[in-house]
Amino acid sequence: MKEIEGRDYILIPERDLGVHEECGIIGIYSPEKKPLAREIYFGLFALQHRGQESAGIACSYNANKIAYYKNMGLVSEVFHDEEIALLPETKTAIGHVRYAAGGTSNVINAQPVVFFGRYGRMAVAHNGNVINAREIRNEMIKKGHIFQSSRDVEVIASLMNDVGEDNMEDGIYEACKKLKGAFSMVILAANKLIAIRDPRGFRPLVMGEKDGSIVFASESCALDALDAKLVRDVKAGEVITIEPDGTMHSKMLPGAGRKPCIFELVYLARSDSTIDEVSVYDSRYECGKMLAKLYKIDADIVSGVPDSAVVAGRGYSVASGIPYVDALSKNRYVGRTFIQPSQSQRESSVKIKLNAFKSNIRGKRLILIDDSIVRGTTSKKIISLLRASGATEVHMVVASPIVKYPCYFGVDMDTRDQLIGGYRNADEICKIIGADSLHYVPLDCLVKACGGIDYCTGCFNEDYSVDVSDICDEKGILSRACCDIEFECEE
Ligand code: SF4
Repeated sequence: MKEIEGRDYILIPERDLGVHEECGIIGIYSPEKKPLAREIYFGLFALQHRGQESAGIACSYNANKIAYYKNMGLVSEVFHDEEIALLPETKTAIGHVRYAAGGTSNVINAQPVVFFGRYGRMAVAHNGNVINAREIRNEMIKKGHIFQSSRDVEVIASLMNDVGEDNMEDGIYEACKKLKGAFSMVILAANKLIAIRDPRGFRPLVMGEKDGSIVFASESCALDALDAKLVRDVKAGEVITIEPDGTMHSKMLPGAGRKPCIFELVYLARSDSTIDEVSVYDSRYECGKMLAKLYKIDADIVSGVPDSAVVAGRGYSVASGIPYVDALSKNRYVGRTFIQPSQSQRESSVKIKLNAFKSNIRGKRLILIDDSIVRGTTSKKIISLLRASGATEVHMVVASPIVKYPCYFGVDMDTRDQLIGGYRNADEICKIIGADSLHYVPLDCLVKACGGIDYCTGCFNEDYSVDVSDICDEKGILSRACCDIEFECEE
């Protein structure tokens, strides 16, 4: 911590900042040709919180051409008027923002991935983690396939090319049947737009509509940004195809049974999104209210850690009658963290700045609400900052249960021994982070606050909803060389 112009700043290495989503995806079909790249751009902007490492847009050019551009950086850094203007008017386009939880931080791993194969030219954008990707890759290599990157999406593309169906949709469908794990995808092929959500629906995917256009996006906040109306969630296990004339048909993958990631509601998604018909805002607010009823703490003020715990903090305040104040201010221009996610960069670089509102907390007993404690180092630093800024007591109340187990489905929570809750109980964690008291919401209360549907809760109780017994903690990652920036209009 250092003093800058009368303010206390806390400097937190990127690695300390908790959990991170891998990607955001969007796809649009329009009945008429138009500059869809611009709309994809605005949609990606709304999904920026899901990945800040790279961004890309692919547009169908005609039945067998795809123009695309992708590069490292935030959406605003990758795309300017110049790049957008170069992408052709089209009826179908997809986009992607990436955070590299799996795979190297490199433009070659940026998406959409565009390739030419059995079914002609295709572009694929993927969110999630395919847990048998390594196994499939090894099989493909034995068959003579070659790989350029460490992306799951390249394995998926290769598999689609390998299954040997005459018809493209059947090929994609058969390939998806072989995938295990989390995959929400949008695909461009032969002027068609295809949206897919894995049989558990781990990662969100919604469908919207605007003036005859159909939009698929990771979160409904992207539909709002485009002024599109939310139609429904893509069902877990659903494969939806939009034909060039706008006809829509859908098919279900075998074994579909919705069990989406509850962490989307706890932390990952934007508060103004709706996922599987559950309002993220309402679930966080309700969770805060439940926490207030469960844990009656003698304190002067309550506050939420910005941004994702602010809503729960307000819920706690309303239910407890303890006034809500802003205790921490976040510099919004830093990005959501993990812009450069290599291990060395995470450990050494300073990526976020929080400062304390000293006059709000000086001499006060504070209840601090946070969405989760993953590694514990951030909580420790925040509590230390708040004490140094004058808080006389800091009681930590967490709007999720203890994170005890890793995630294998696209959220960057590493091996169990890196999780502070992996081998420690709440009392031990409380001592380590330096709080006066520490309370977690019980899992059944969290599920209730999140609408009571059947969720994946694996990182809390090891109930992953698919068999992960053959996966080790550290998933193998292939390293590879860098490639140049790509910009092509492919023939
Ligand atoms: S293990 Fe946790 S973070 Fe991963 S999908 Fe399940 S609920 Fe989400």
